[in-house]
Formats: sequence, C-alpha cells, structure tokens
Amino acid sequence: MEKRFDVIVIGGGVLGTFHAYHALLKGYKVCLVEKDRMPKGATTQNFGQVVPSGMDSKWQKLGRESLRIYKEIQSKFDISIRQQGTVYLASDDDEERLLVELRSLNNDNGYPSRMLTKKECLTKYPGLRNDYVTAGLFFPEEVTVEPRIMIHRLQHYMVEALDLVFKTNFLVVDCVKNNDGVEVVSTTHEHLKAHTVIICNGADFKNLYPTLFWQSDLEVTKLQMMQTKPQNNFELKGSVLTGWSIRRYEAFRECPSYFEVKSKESGDSLQKKWGVHILFKQATDGSVIIGDSHEYADVMNMDDLGFDINVDIDTFILHEAQKIFNLPTYKIQNKWYGIYAQCKTQDVFQKTIDGNIHIVTGIGGKGMTGSAGFSKNNIATLLN
Ligand SMILES: Cc1cc2nc3c(=O)[nH]c(=O)nc-3n(C[C@H](O)[C@H](O)[C@H](O)COP(=O)(O)OP(=O)(O)OC[C@H]3O[C@@H](n4cnc5c(N)ncnc54)[C@H](O)[C@@H]3O)c2cc1C
Repeated sequence: MEKRFDVIVIGGGVLGTFHAYHALLKGYKVCLVEKDRMPKGATTQNFGQVVPSGMDSKWQKLGRESLRIYKEIQSKFDISIRQQGTVYLASDDDEERLLVELRSLNNDNGYPSRMLTKKECLTKYPGLRNDYVTAGLFFPEEVTVEPRIMIHRLQHYMVEALDLVFKTNFLVVDCVKNNDGVEVVSTTHEHLKAHTVIICNGADFKNLYPTLFWQSDLEVTKLQMMQTKPQNNFELKGSVLTGWSIRRYEAFRECPSYFEVKSKESGDSLQKKWGVHILFKQATDGSVIIGDSHEYADVMNMDDLGFDINVDIDTFILHEAQKIFNLPTYKIQNKWYGIYAQCKTQDVFQKTIDGNIHIVTGIGGKGMTGSAGFSKNNIATLLN
C-alpha cells in the first residue's frame, strides 16, 4: 500500500469528501481517511436538503456552485440527487411579505424562483392544510440528496473514477510535521505521509488538538429528527420549508421587512425555547423526514447536551407539523438526533498549524448545501 500522498484529508463527512474531490480534480494524489467503518457524523444525520435559497448572498453563490457540482456528478454516477425544487410556505401576511421580498432579491441575483398562490400550493403539495398556507415561493433549481446513500456513493465514485485512496476505521490521533512533510498517525499505529493535511473533523474535538478547540469559539448544536413510516399513495416533492424557517433562515435577514417582522414575535414560546422550525422531506422509501430543534453548547460543554431524545420536543414538533400537513400517517419509524459544529464569529472555522496542516470545520447547518462549492474555492486557496 502506497503511504505517501500529496494531500491527506482527515474526516469522511461531506466537507472532507468534497475537499478530497476538488484536490483530485486538480491532479493531486489524495488519501481520505475516516475513523469509522462508514461516516456517521452530521453528514448522515440530516435532511439532505440542498437549499442555496435559504442562505445569505455570499453563501448562496457557493450553494449554487454546489448545485452545479452535484448535478454534474449525478450525470456521471447516481449519487441520489433529485431535482424537485424547494418551497417556502407562508402562513400569514408577514411571512408572505418576506417571500415577496426574497423573490425580488433573487430576481436581482439571477436565481430563478416563482411565487405560488395559495391554490397552487394546495394543488402542488397534497395534504397541505388549507387553514395553514397563504402563499409559497418555489425554487425550481434546487435538489435533495439521500444523506445516508449519497456520501457512500460519492466516495465509491471517487475511488473508482478519480483514483482516491480511501481508508476507513482509521482514527487519526496525531499529525507530526517534519522535513519530509506531515506524518499522520492512527490508533492502529499506521503512518501515512503527505505534503498537506486537511482536517475536516466535524464535531469530533477530542482526538486531535483538543486544547485548540476548547479555546475556540466553536459551538455544537443538537437537532432532533423523526422519520414517519412509508406513506401510502402520497408524494411530497423536494424540500418543504414552512413559516418558522422563513423567520429563521439567513436569506430572509437580507429582506427589508425582516427585523420589523421579528420585532413582533414573542420571545417566550416553546418554539423559541427549543429553536424549532418545521421542515419536511420525503425519502425514497416514501417515508417523510420531519424536524427539527436546535439546542446549543460550547465545545467545552458539549457533553452537557446529553444523549437523550427529549420527548417533549418531539411531541411539540409533531403537534406543529400536523397543523401544516395532513400526512396519511404520522406513525414514526425512526427518531434520532444529529450534531453539528459551527463558529460563533465566522462562517467556517479555519486554522493552519505548522504551515501544512489545515483545520477546516464548523460549517454549521449549511454543510450539505455549501460544502461542494466552498471546498472548491478552499482547495484552490490551500493548495495554490
Ligand atoms: C439533523 C441535521 C439536519 C441537517 N440538515 C441539513 C440540510 O438539510 N441541508 C444542509 O445543507 N445541511 C444540513 N445539516 C448540516 C450538515 O449535515 C453539516 O453541515 C455537514 O454534514 C457537516 O459535515 P462535516 O463533514 O463537517 O462533518 P461530519 O459529517 O460530522 O464529518 C466529520 C467526519 O470526520 C470524521 N473524523 C473526525 N475526527 C476524525 C479523526 N481524528 N480521524 C478520522 N476521522 C475523523 C468523523 O468520523 C466524521 O465522519 C444538518 C445537520 C444536522 C445534524
């Protein structure tokens, strides 16, 4: 087995995998290492909504580049991309006003979207409640991925078509800079060497550079998710986001009425307490994924988030979801929580050690949407 590479990427989540992908496209010899037999971090715990429409204008550009990259790979190899668009459903005049304003901003940016009337929403989205929706905003270019399928297929494609060396069950515990480059050491005492090492460790802050992370302004977010049993004779297309997402997503902060709308909200609600907004996405087995909540802790205190599912949060999410959609069944087959890391002061946490070791993590709740485009630019910067 060859042990010397141009680039070693540590972490087989979406951020690490796309860093490896773009380094391969530039002709570098790349090894991607993952501590588990298969990645099971945030990249496999999420909705799989690729929604540049929800991002601020800087990240929308990167998200739109991600769309292009996802579609390009899908045209060569099935990585589970479905282009069915994204809809934001307003439930009152304020949310509708924000939709109209977001549409106008996107017109200026040349990003296609169209308003849907209440009637069009009800026709396009079966089960949507007449007493919830007032209007919608639809983004036709956007896609979904099946998170638990996509990452494996993408890595498989990269091994087969781009000569990636992918090593699993490879937990890195040390990176040592020497005259010869950087040596990467695993718990099984395997050593790999590279000129450059990129660490995309997600929210795993205990195995490498723990002190650096404890002293950083990274924080960790815990999100609760549910998946219904497969729905019979029911089709929900694309990513479906509702009123509280309109009031939460960064894209809407650029709308002229945003702060006025927010100023009318009560601070004292279960929705605010648990950071809930209601999103739906149908998986390929017909089930519907419903979420989510947001609970936060600093890296130092991340263990305080615990390992329990808070039943009160799930009950609240389901209660609110049923006010929006009459699904054929709300019987739940799976519940889980996911964790992601984000930076309080920057879009992404980046730190370079000894010149050739680059830490890149903390992409927050935008990783499935932003990683492909962001990594392309970042690889150009890191390997220039
Ligand atoms: C519930 C939930 C819903 C979400 N929904 C969406 C969504 O719909 N759309 C969207 O855009 N984003 C969404 N996100 C955000 C998105 O999932 C994350 O931004 C993204 O997955 C982060 O990717 P990552 O590669 O940084 O981290 P991870 O996926 O956590 O990957 C890090 C990897 O590094 C490995 N690793 C860590 N340390 C080591 C080591 N020392 N040695 C070897 N391997 C190591 C880990 O095992 C892991 O596989 C959601 C997140 C959650 C939790």
